[in-house]
Amino acid sequence: MNSHENDPLRTARECRHYAMCKIDCLGTGVCPSGSRNHYVSHYPQGMMDITAALLEERIPVTPALLDIADSCTLCGICDLQCHFVTGLRPLEVFRELKARVDLFRKGGGEPEPVPEDDFLRELRRITGEPFSTSDPAHMMAYAHDPCPISALTLPSYVTLPENTRQVSRIVRLCRREGVEWSVRGNGSSVMGFVLSPGLVIDTARMKTISFRTGDRSVTVGAGVSSMELQREALDRGYRVNTAEPSALYCANIMCSGIFSLFSSSCGTGLDNILDAEFVDDEGNIVHLSGPDGPNPCSFQRRPSPAPGICTRAVVRLHPVCEDESAVAVPFESMEAAVEYARELNKRDIGLGIGVLGTEYLGTFLAPVSSLSASMRRLFRKDLGIEYMVLVLGNRHHLAAARDMAPCVLEQGIIRAVTLGMPSLNRSGISSILKGMEGGEAPYHTLAQPGMQPLLEAALNSSPENLASAVDPDLRDAYRKLYRREGMTDILQLNSLRVISSRMGREGHVVAYIFYVPLDDPGLSLKIHEEFSQLTQRNGLRGDFGFLTPLERGSMGILEWDMYLDHTDDREVKKGQKAMAEAAEMIQGFHNLDSRILWIGFVFNRGYTRKESFLHSGSLLSNEQ
Ligand SMILES: Cc1cc2nc3c(=O)[nH]c(=O)nc-3n(C[C@H](O)[C@H](O)[C@H](O)COP(=O)(O)OP(=O)(O)OC[C@H]3O[C@@H](n4cnc5c(N)ncnc54)[C@H](O)[C@@H]3O)c2cc1C
Ligand code: SF4
Ligand code: SF4
Repeated sequence: MNSHENDPLRTARECRHYAMCKIDCLGTGVCPSGSRNHYVSHYPQGMMDITAALLEERIPVTPALLDIADSCTLCGICDLQCHFVTGLRPLEVFRELKARVDLFRKGGGEPEPVPEDDFLRELRRITGEPFSTSDPAHMMAYAHDPCPISALTLPSYVTLPENTRQVSRIVRLCRREGVEWSVRGNGSSVMGFVLSPGLVIDTARMKTISFRTGDRSVTVGAGVSSMELQREALDRGYRVNTAEPSALYCANIMCSGIFSLFSSSCGTGLDNILDAEFVDDEGNIVHLSGPDGPNPCSFQRRPSPAPGICTRAVVRLHPVCEDESAVAVPFESMEAAVEYARELNKRDIGLGIGVLGTEYLGTFLAPVSSLSASMRRLFRKDLGIEYMVLVLGNRHHLAAARDMAPCVLEQGIIRAVTLGMPSLNRSGISSILKGMEGGEAPYHTLAQPGMQPLLEAALNSSPENLASAVDPDLRDAYRKLYRREGMTDILQLNSLRVISSRMGREGHVVAYIFYVPLDDPGLSLKIHEEFSQLTQRNGLRGDFGFLTPLERGSMGILEWDMYLDHTDDREVKKGQKAMAEAAEMIQGFHNLDSRILWIGFVFNRGYTRKESFLHSGSLLSNEQ
């Protein structure tokens, strides 16, 4: 996988749809064409799908296709963003799109006209003409995602409402005309949820943010991404419990509730939501706090419909202290790592806690696949680290975390290893460790005071060294990026989550997420082992992702990830089979311990009080 020089079709088909090119994820700007036109079709993500469809002759040349191709300035912003996350280089795809369009025009081609029907006319009356369409080029950008069980579903229309009133009128119109609809944020849930043969309501234009810091709250419109929200909050000295940066905040609430490392201190579900506004299926506008709003205590262990389209949410702001930082605590076994994380959370230590597997860590920290492999080798073989607990907190939290840890890798060590990664294969680290080992695992040596300068010298840790690992034409941009402290700062990387979608660099991710009791660490291990066997049996790759303790260490949220090449039909079939087997296995986990809750049951109910799903055995309404 990754960059395929001179094969634009292959690159285009590999788009992961995690939407990192729809936000200014690196502080280097965002696609000018997408920002001006709002449809995903004008962003690199949509243009990848459109170009693939054009090259495979699945769509004709239409007016929108010409407009989309013409609007791309070939500025290259997306080339760095996409390479940073996936290793792909979309610019060559868009050069090819423009070349095809040139050829079409030179050959005297005329775009295929797209007729306007009554429904589209009505939509356009509501949103304004440019913001509703049925052009097949646009439809193609809203038609699929890389999930092995998502089927290509071309919508008939796409609309971009600007505010709640327009959403309400659109829903009433759909009901009157019997048109099915789905609502879409940035489409990065990648499980087919946002596909519809009828109308796709894209909330991208609903970008309002209004802070009331005196009240410690911010009102977020449905079109605001988590990164936009977090940057604005951090500028004001606050943090919001956000997760994936490209996820629209309201979409993330609705999809699964928002979980992150910070959930260990600030919770999930309703914990961070002070109010929310919905347009219900009849087109009525209701509020969580109002008499007709949905009941945030209601929870049953079965799939539930959403209460409607969330158009705004009022969200809690958490104050940031100036002395916040992070440490990494290495472990050889999952049980020991989970136990440490659980103890911290039980004592309310830390702003954020996460047990991470070395698969995740290696992939997150490395800018290219070959270096992820070096990092994994370093952690596992050279250092004996299988799991790392990241602890984010103020200096009091971190003092307590150090006190309770067997040993600690400080922020400076992580930075030195990150910036020196290309030297790892030149035995940089083993030369330092040689002769220094005691009877303990090698990572203890690395944790000794005074190691940082040795490591920096041995690995030649510098932005220049790290940048030497990427394509020559990107080195200057990478040098500039990694000169910023934030790019190697564990706390900042977790606040803005710039690197987490790198997890999909070596293959599309199918994530399995569970709430698990932590009083028996064997349960988390069992989930890990059974998923490992399942993926191996099906010839796929997969690994434990992370676990964050919640509720004073009594429960945790655990992610296990399966990886596959969504462009390879054989892998897709393997993925489908593995997903069918996983569904049975999930039921088995629940039978083993009824407190294990698969996140699918929280789907559409992320505004629910977390106690309702974390203590679901105690709910009177669940008594038979
Ligand atoms: C690499 C990666 C890592 C991730 N890690 C995390 C994580 O750590 N924590 C976490 O919480 N999530 C995580 N996610 C999941 C993802 O962030 C969520 O699925 C999020 O909802 C996606 O946002 P989106 O705007 O792309 O939503 P979409 O994919 O557009 O929509 C998600 C769902 O919400 C519905 N929806 C969208 N907007 C609205 C609305 N306004 N009102 C009602 N329903 C709506 C859609 O119909 C769909 O069912 C991860 C995803 C990826 C790809
Ligand atoms: S792979 Fe991700 S960053 Fe690259 S074009 Fe696709 S959605 Fe955008
Ligand atoms: S090259 Fe084109 S698609 Fe990429 S960011 Fe620039 S305008 Fe957008």
